[in-house]
Amino acid sequence: MAKLSDKKILIKAFNSIDTDQGICENCEEESILVGIVTDYYRCTNCGADTRQHINGCIRYLQLEESDKKWLKDKYGEKI
Ligand SMILES: [Zn+2]
Repeated sequence: MAKLSDKKILIKAFNSIDTDQGICENCEEESILVGIVTDYYRCTNCGADTRQHINGCIRYLQLEESDKKWLKDKYGEKI
């Protein structure tokens, strides 16, 4: 049952505006990335949170400890 609700959440995420396709640096696969907060995306392939970095091309970087701390400070356990 947990899996079904996960799927529903995922579908909900896909219907929201902020999804993108790109290479996730965590799993190095092309994946759909779902925006969780501004500039931060979650890879639907490996589940890792990444930070969108635009510098000529868009990259999805692995989070550094400072990024994780920032997310946690700002959004707590909600995401
Ligand atoms: Zn990934």
